[in-house]
Amino acid sequence: MNTARLHQRFLLCAGVDTDTRNIRKDSMFFALKGEKFNGNQFAESALEKGARYAVVDDKKFAKNKENYIVVKNVLQTLQKLAEFHRKYLDIPILAITGSNGKTTTKELVNSVLSRRFKTIATKGNLNNHIGVPLTLLSMDDQTEFGIVEMGANHPHEIEFLCSIANPDHGYITNFGKAHLEGFGSLEGVVKAKTELYKDIQERHKLIFLNIDDEVQKRHENYSHTFTFGEDKNADVSVNYKTGLPNAELNYNKTDFSSQLTGSYNAKNMAAALCIGLYFKVDFNEIQEAIKNYSPDNNRSQVIEAGSNTIIMDAYNANPTSMHAALENFSQLKTSKQKIAILGDMFELGSSAATEHQVIANYVQNSDFTETYLLGDNFKNTDTSSNFIFKFKSMESLKEHLNESDFQNCYFLIKGSRGMALERVLDSIKA
Ligand code: ATP
Ligand code: MG
Repeated sequence: MNTARLHQRFLLCAGVDTDTRNIRKDSMFFALKGEKFNGNQFAESALEKGARYAVVDDKKFAKNKENYIVVKNVLQTLQKLAEFHRKYLDIPILAITGSNGKTTTKELVNSVLSRRFKTIATKGNLNNHIGVPLTLLSMDDQTEFGIVEMGANHPHEIEFLCSIANPDHGYITNFGKAHLEGFGSLEGVVKAKTELYKDIQERHKLIFLNIDDEVQKRHENYSHTFTFGEDKNADVSVNYKTGLPNAELNYNKTDFSSQLTGSYNAKNMAAALCIGLYFKVDFNEIQEAIKNYSPDNNRSQVIEAGSNTIIMDAYNANPTSMHAALENFSQLKTSKQKIAILGDMFELGSSAATEHQVIANYVQNSDFTETYLLGDNFKNTDTSSNFIFKFKSMESLKEHLNESDFQNCYFLIKGSRGMALERVLDSIKA
């Protein structure tokens, strides 16, 4: 079936589903394959649960002609359908990529833009070759603005996602040492992320730039930009505040506050402010939208537990975001004792040993009362301080925390997703 005909059928459906545990009535089920499953096997069950069509790529699972649509490759068909649907949608789409802060920025931007437009934004972290098509296919005739998070861990992925989403606007949060295994080096990251700006520039559309960032500044001469930063020449010239528990900035003699810890989040707020101003969202509404956004998923959260305060940033970590979090923790003005609980950073390939040593050196020279390190990479770092403790396992770390009586402490908890450091929370609270 060609894409145009498939699209006609899609328009009759209540959206796309890929998981038989959540089938909506009259949806179009795409039988995707994973490492451990073959979606074709679930097609029948999807139809039984109410899906209108099941798109499969193994005809032996197609039981009839009315409900089954047999294609060569289900994933590619999903991507082609999304590309087609995007052309059918006559709306602006803003794509957001970068090494860190994509989801946070996307959520902030969505809070702001939804004050003026009927927006659809990427749900959670669905930012890859499946998530981007699903996001586009969740937009309909009622949608006025699309906000799409794009993730990548290899070159040309952003280029590919752009070919599907055809963004009119783009913003890159930062260039950091994330996924070095796939990108090779920081220059590799820069090249891969700027595929977004390249795509938009080729189509003469508009990019948002943080001109405090050296790499983004290189794009300043392009004719369609709207910029922000502490740089006085920025279209939206802001001042970031430091040393506060939550990120704050000042723009046009007005303070913008947030529920986000970490001064790096002030940059994410500034991006949302800049984008909101460009799209003419009311100034006070922007301020409110940013202030009201509350993070979830163990990202940049502050938790009060008795006399202790916990910065819960266990959602993920890489050298750049780890450094940003530590710097923020260092600058924090507090009378409480600072304790950092850090877990290994993954996907660093041959840079792993060096990058963990850099972090170990940082805490060694910091004013933290104590630092607890967990993971094989941290275990192998060279540390001489009596205030740095290495733990063999989550169990031994928790045991130590359970036995300690923490009073008036400020904790920072950060590590890669696989470390699941949020597991220490109960021990600290107890
Ligand atoms: P993922 O790659 O998992 O999609 P992401 O880019 O969407 O991640 P977020 O989920 O928004 O990023 O934030 C993850 C973590 O990155 C935060 O908890 C914070 O520690 C860090 N972070 C957020 N914004 C920035 C920033 N502008 N610069 C550096 N680090 C940041
Ligand atoms: Mg994300």
